[in-house]
Amino acid sequence: MLKYDALIIGSGLAGLTLALKLADQKKIAIITKKSMLDGASAWAQGGIAAVLSPEDSWAEHIQDTHIAGAGLCDPATTRFVVENGKAAIDWLIQQGVPFSRDEDNNYHLTREGGHSHRRIIHAADATGLAVQQSIAAKVIAHPNITLLEQHIAIDLITGNKLGLNEQRCYGAYALNTVNGEIITISAHNTILATGGAGKVYLYTTNPDTATGDGIAMGWRAGCRVANMEFIQFHPTCLYHPHAKSFLISEAVRGEGGMLKLPDGTRFMTRHDERGELAPRDVVARAIDFEMKTHGLDCVYLDISHQSKEFLQQHFPNIYARCLELGIDITREPIPVVPAAHYTCGGLMADLDGRTDVAHLYAIGETAYTGLHGANRLASNSLLECLVFAEAAAQDILAQQNSSFKELPEWDESQVTDADEAVVISHNWAELRRFMWDYVGIVRTTKRLQRAQHRIQLLHEEINEYYTHFHVSSDLLELRNLVLSADLIVQSALSRHESRGLHFSKDYPETLAHAVPSILTPGNYRS
Ligand SMILES: Cc1cc2nc3c(=O)[nH]c(=O)nc-3n(C[C@H](O)[C@H](O)[C@H](O)COP(=O)(O)OP(=O)(O)OC[C@H]3O[C@@H](n4cnc5c(N)ncnc54)[C@H](O)[C@@H]3O)c2cc1C
Repeated sequence: MLKYDALIIGSGLAGLTLALKLADQKKIAIITKKSMLDGASAWAQGGIAAVLSPEDSWAEHIQDTHIAGAGLCDPATTRFVVENGKAAIDWLIQQGVPFSRDEDNNYHLTREGGHSHRRIIHAADATGLAVQQSIAAKVIAHPNITLLEQHIAIDLITGNKLGLNEQRCYGAYALNTVNGEIITISAHNTILATGGAGKVYLYTTNPDTATGDGIAMGWRAGCRVANMEFIQFHPTCLYHPHAKSFLISEAVRGEGGMLKLPDGTRFMTRHDERGELAPRDVVARAIDFEMKTHGLDCVYLDISHQSKEFLQQHFPNIYARCLELGIDITREPIPVVPAAHYTCGGLMADLDGRTDVAHLYAIGETAYTGLHGANRLASNSLLECLVFAEAAAQDILAQQNSSFKELPEWDESQVTDADEAVVISHNWAELRRFMWDYVGIVRTTKRLQRAQHRIQLLHEEINEYYTHFHVSSDLLELRNLVLSADLIVQSALSRHESRGLHFSKDYPETLAHAVPSILTPGNYRS
């Protein structure tokens, strides 16, 4: 049994930031499914929102967040995150992140949809990679941090599971995906920093790691989840047979990119007076509408009116990737489709990142803090990772460590090798296809019920598989994806209105009073 003061599950921005903030005083383990930079954080292009300019104000950032969130953002959380924004960016600058500068050598701030000011600090168009590389180097160098790559957490070890009738977390079991060994990790505090659940959908901008593992593990451990129906679909994912999940950043629209039909007609102004800078849900629904109306596979994003120098300077990554695929963005429009991008809901966490289970924290995209409401304002999510990593660190550092509990080893005596791996691959494909078709951008009660019925069948099949066979990463991820899908559908069915990212043809109106949809384990069959 391995013993640590803190076990951090996930090496995205939330997990790595927390590790660095604890490591001078605590012994830390980070486990991560693949390699250190494989989460969504390293894929973030646009940047991080914070009030950094004298023309901007906290009040305006808060107001923009509330408007995007369609009345459902938690006011205390929003204020907390916005007010801690500058300190979070200052910390990154201290870590050596090479943010882009303007001609006067000030940090360049860009503007994205829904923001009333230029307030997005960025490192060209590969902000996440620059941030992650800077802090990963410090994590690797820190003697108090043990990094276990190629380890997937299976489940949390809780007092209830140990028969102690205690809502408390003691650590987790994890599978070493290289040698198949299952390790037991005992920790004073366990932190879920596992990212979102975008892989529940057929088309997503998310990396393969985004299978809702933390949300599912937390739910099984007894945590409530909130607002799982609010899945943000990014309007502009590159549509190309050889491009997997490549995002065309919102900043392209921020710098004048126009959405067009194949015949060159600009259409956003017909849907919203803010045109291409309308919030993402409005843009995604407009594209969905145009694609369905005209029977299109994609629409086009045209930034070719900007000079080649401008495009190469502002979007070097997008420019190069498109060119590799034969699309010269300086001369022609970019084919794009909407794709699942961000999980606004998650495990309920307070302003210290604490969940309903003692000594279990949830930070980053895995958590529901109330910041995003019914729709995330662009570039608020990396900020949320930073602010809640700091808050959780302070909360953990204020605790006295107790003694370590002896934990039972993982029991494999009742299982055998799997005989029919096809069950897993088939169910993965089926789940992601029907979630796309039935639980996508525009929903109906009937389609949600169809999805629910299929989820029930998948649950039964996968649980039987899980009980009888050795675990594999595919099986663990599928189990978590099905549970995440179930929570999304249950939340969607419980919302009898359209608000933000949740649009139902059966309930097109927005109710006067906004309430989060909260699911409690035990009240539901999952
Ligand atoms: C293409 C793209 C562009 C984006 N651009 C922006 C942007 O410009 N600005 C912005 O604010 N936000 C952006 N976002 C959103 C933002 O990147 C994410 O919300 C944020 O990075 C989430 O960070 P995280 O630390 O919570 O999770 P992640 O960075 O996703 O990290 C999750 C980690 O958990 C690990 N993990 C998961 N399950 C397990 C398990 N069972 N066991 C062990 N490890 C596990 C993963 O391997 C991974 O290391 C973008 C997202 C995408 C996909």
